[in-house]
Amino acid sequence: MSPRLRHLTTLENLPRETIERLLDRANRCATPAPTAPAQADVLAGRTVLNLFFEPSTRTRTSFELAARRLGADVVNFDIGLSSTSKGEELFDTLHTLEAMHLDAIIVRHKQSGTPDELVRHAMSGVSVINAGDGNHAHPTQGLLDALTIRQHRPDFENLTVVICGDISHSRVARSDINAFTALGMKEIRLCAPPELMPGTNEVPQGRRFDDFDAAIEGADAVLMLRLQKERMASIELPDEAAYFARYGLDRRRLALAAKGCLVMHPGPINRGIEIASDVADGAQSRILEQVGNGVFVRMAVLNEVLAR
Ligand code: ASP
Repeated sequence: MSPRLRHLTTLENLPRETIERLLDRANRCATPAPTAPAQADVLAGRTVLNLFFEPSTRTRTSFELAARRLGADVVNFDIGLSSTSKGEELFDTLHTLEAMHLDAIIVRHKQSGTPDELVRHAMSGVSVINAGDGNHAHPTQGLLDALTIRQHRPDFENLTVVICGDISHSRVARSDINAFTALGMKEIRLCAPPELMPGTNEVPQGRRFDDFDAAIEGADAVLMLRLQKERMASIELPDEAAYFARYGLDRRRLALAAKGCLVMHPGPINRGIEIASDVADGAQSRILEQVGNGVFVRMAVLNEVLAR
């Protein structure tokens, strides 16, 4: 059996067995067996801190609900980035909070690598969970995306997925690619404008496309990404109408995918920029299922790192 995780900062190099264990546990949270023991006190007496240096609605709420459903106490700590721009200040914050006897820190930070830095500096006994760092990783999103696909199509070895949009700045894309690769996905296609496609030195996996019509042909799932302007330095983007015409998901394009293709998006959605409203709200959309699965995946992760 793969060892139990103490921290979760990335899905990169996690064994398939560990990912499957987390997904199985998340599924059990989603559909508890009538005879299963109550979950409500699994983390009783544990304290979880949401330490968010970047705004978040879905992820923070979802971690909070997950922790509470398992009986943990939750403290929310939102900090403006400016007050912790220097490394020392970040670690001062960390040690101050640790002195209050925390069991887990859930961190979101604009700078890639911050959760791993916290792991290196954290006192023993404190678990660190990454809730998104720069364009590096968003491991619970990768897990919830894999869970959502698996609930509809467990046969990953037969599946082709397309990830389309601003892949360069997307931590979601990176964690999705890690999860899908570990689970043996048949084909991962990446579709982005050339200036928003990471080099193969950065993201070695995936078959690259510039033409979305070609990329989506026959796909079993399509994952759309937001233009993450806040992470861009000074990239010239086409205007939004031109972007939608080339890289947006509308009904005509979705018809090129395999029948029943799953439509996914990590949110927040920009309707009419990367996805048409009728597709986002349409019968093939799994976007709200993703949100629901986020709570179950986060329960599974908290259970993994914190349960006694
Ligand atoms: N919510 C996701 C993230 O934090 C995706 C996005 O912001 O576009 O990376």
